[in-house]
Amino acid sequence: MKNNFNYKILETAQLIINSKKTFVLTGAGMSTESGIPDFRSDTGYYQKMDPVNALSKDVLLSNPKRFYSEGYKILEDLNDKKPNEGHLALAELEEMKYISGIITQNIDNLHTKAGSKNVYEVHGETRRVHCMKCGSSFEFKVMQDKVNSGQIPPKCDKCSGILRPNVVMFGDMMPEDFQLAVRELESTELLIVIGSSLTVAPVNYLPQYVEKLIIINNTPTPEDNNAEVIFREQAGTVLQNILKEVKRLNDL
Ligand SMILES: [Zn+2]
Repeated sequence: MKNNFNYKILETAQLIINSKKTFVLTGAGMSTESGIPDFRSDTGYYQKMDPVNALSKDVLLSNPKRFYSEGYKILEDLNDKKPNEGHLALAELEEMKYISGIITQNIDNLHTKAGSKNVYEVHGETRRVHCMKCGSSFEFKVMQDKVNSGQIPPKCDKCSGILRPNVVMFGDMMPEDFQLAVRELESTELLIVIGSSLTVAPVNYLPQYVEKLIIINNTPTPEDNNAEVIFREQAGTVLQNILKEVKRLNDL
């Protein structure tokens, strides 16, 4: 009974309805159903080009040609992706006031595209870029057009400094969103972790701020022992079922 899927959906819906404040933490597994591979999984098709390495600040400065030909392509690809049924379910739960917001490790903008409003992007985003010299901000497309027309590295129109994406790379500090997310979690009762194996610091420390955890991830995480409910199924299916159940209980 305890491990039955429908029972776990009911239990989760009840936890959400009874929680004083609920937050969501999402990682790569949230977006695999949108066709975005998990950079860190061994089966990902980016495995050979080592995107994490190619997307470092060090490479950007020492080898811009490599940066803008390898890792950068991944960022470009993300702009065509669409939110899946899981992203849409989370946006609806936020609109119904059952979740207060989302903290995401993903840089694919899919929560925002799905309509979620309170999103903390702790690894950055790919909507905008900025100049490393004067700090001016531009649309991603401005940089994209420069790169595609052969201007590598792409230069700022105002001061001719180098433009870079607003993603957090190796060698960067965590963005302000991370501190804001921690502050939100200090008053949060329930955290739903989705598609994150909770192995990347400092995001893996976030569950310690909350009283209750729900985990939706297809592989074990270091926090499984502390979770009220664990799902190993695909995030999209689980979240649509949770949404349906919350609505059903709401209508009783
Ligand atoms: Zn500039």
